[in-house]
Amino acid sequence: MERHVMDTNKERNALYPGSFDGLTYGHIDIIRRASLLFDRLVVGVAHNPQKKPCFSVIERMTMIEKAIGDLPNVSIRDFDGLTVNFARKIGAKFIVRGLRAISDFEFEIQLALLNRQMDRQIETVFLATSTEYIFLSSSAVKDVILHNGNASDLVPDYVEKALREKLLKKKGEMPCA
Ligand code: ADP
Repeated sequence: MERHVMDTNKERNALYPGSFDGLTYGHIDIIRRASLLFDRLVVGVAHNPQKKPCFSVIERMTMIEKAIGDLPNVSIRDFDGLTVNFARKIGAKFIVRGLRAISDFEFEIQLALLNRQMDRQIETVFLATSTEYIFLSSSAVKDVILHNGNASDLVPDYVEKALREKLLKKKGEMPCA
């Protein structure tokens, strides 16, 4: 019987890129699940100067480290510029993205196809959200906090506290998005 032998010398490395501007349990869930699928996973924190983030890159990286520092095959890096260029630089053949509702699909498929156009060697892998996080996004959490709601089921307590400090400093004004 013919057997298909996997090339065990090849590491399967992946990049999970994003803004992570207010790390949520949805992000953490994707990181934990992706870490089981790949040999090494790099969480890539994008500088995204065109957005108006609440947290500096260092603050965002520290928040992620606090949540998933126990995972031995996961590391956290920041990056600027095209995601595929960064993936290539770190030797990642896979880009991981999370999919929530259908509304994510159109944007994410465009991004995946564009990335494939730029580098055919890099494959985008989508992980479906866990049902409890389907409506969860960093911007939804910001809204909840801005209106004095309880976000303890949505983000770790230190993220909630930090967001409260940033967002409620100037009442009525959105200092970041
Ligand atoms: P970006 O600015 O690149 O969209 P985000 O930090 O908002 O960065 O999200 C990073 C990735 O995490 C995206 O692929 C996004 O779809 C995914 N994601 C965000 N929230 C969730 C969630 N609740 N469940 C699953 N995936 C999620």
